[in-house]
Amino acid sequence: MFDKLKSGLNNVIKKLKIKDLSEKELGPVIDSLKELMIKNEVSYRTADSICIELKKELIKKEHERFKNITPIVTDALRNSVRKVLEITNVDVNDVLFNQIEKAKQEKRPYIICMLGINGTGKTTTIAKITKKLLDRKYTVVWSASDTYRSGSIQQLGKHAEKLGVRMIAHDYGGDPAAVAIDAIDHAETKGIDVVIIDTAGRMQNNVNLVRELGKIMRLTEPDLKIFVGDSLAGNDVIRQAEQFNSEIGFDGIIMTKLDSDAKGGAVISVAHITNKPILFLGVGQSYDDLKEFQPELIIKEVIPL
Ligand code: GDP
Repeated sequence: MFDKLKSGLNNVIKKLKIKDLSEKELGPVIDSLKELMIKNEVSYRTADSICIELKKELIKKEHERFKNITPIVTDALRNSVRKVLEITNVDVNDVLFNQIEKAKQEKRPYIICMLGINGTGKTTTIAKITKKLLDRKYTVVWSASDTYRSGSIQQLGKHAEKLGVRMIAHDYGGDPAAVAIDAIDHAETKGIDVVIIDTAGRMQNNVNLVRELGKIMRLTEPDLKIFVGDSLAGNDVIRQAEQFNSEIGFDGIIMTKLDSDAKGGAVISVAHITNKPILFLGVGQSYDDLKEFQPELIIKEVIPL
C-alpha cells in the first residue's frame, strides 16, 4: 500500500544533485518530498511535521562532507517519520491483553467500546478482536448498541453466531446505553471476561450521536475506547478521527482495509494528528486478518533503502 509513496520518495532522493546541506539547497528538495507525501494522502500537517524534522536532521550535518547524498537523506527521512510515529510505539500486550488479565484478577469484566462511522469495518473488526481473545481463552459478550442503523443488529448477530459468542440486543430505536448496561450485567453475573460494545456511526446526525455516545461512556466507563478508521478514506478518516477524539475521546486506533488499494498516507497521519497509538491494522476480510501495528514495519515499507 505504500508502494507509490516509496517509489516517489526513491525517485526524488536518487536524483538529488545538491552540493551541500545548506538551507538554500535543501529547500526545493524538502518541498518536493512534502508534495509527494501529500499526494499520497499524508495529511498536510503530518507532512509538514515530517519535513520540519527532516530539515533539522539535515541542517545538523551541514558541514559534513559527503560523496553520496542518498543515504544521508534516506536516514534522515527515516528518523523523521520515526519521530512522527513515536506516539504509536506501544505494546498491544500492555495496552490490551495485560489489562484484561488485571481486570480478571479484580473479578470484573474488561469493557471495550468501538467507535467509528458506518462502513469502516467496525463490525468485522469487533469479530476479529473477539477471535484474538477467544484464541487466548478469554470469554466475550457483545453489546449490540447500534440500535439506529437497520440491519446492524442482524449483521453483528451473524458474526456472533459464527464465533459462538453471546450478543445482548434490544429492539431498533432502543436506548444504546441500556443495551450496554445489560451486557455488562450479563458479564458480571456469568463471569465473562470481556464486554465489547458496538456503537452507531452516523455522521449525518452528529448532535444526537454525540449525546448518545456520551451517555454510553458515562454509564459504562469503558476501559478501552477504540476508533476504527478506513484507510481507503484518505483525509476523510483524519477528519473523522479528530471529531471523535475531540467529542468523545478514544485511547487507540485500528485502521482497516490495508490489503486494499489505499495510498496509505492516512495511516501515518492518524496517529500523529490525534496523538493516539494505532493498535492493529485490518488486512483482509477473514477473522485472522488483524495485524498488530508495528511502526518499524511501516517505516520499512515507506522509506526506500
Ligand atoms: P461497519 O459498517 O463499519 O460495521 O463495517 P463492516 O464491518 O460491515 O465492513 C464493511 C465492509 O468492509 C465489509 O464488506 C467487510 O468485509 C469489509 N472489511 C472490513 N475490514 C476489512 C479489511 O481489513 N480488509 C478488507 N478488504 N475488507 C474489510
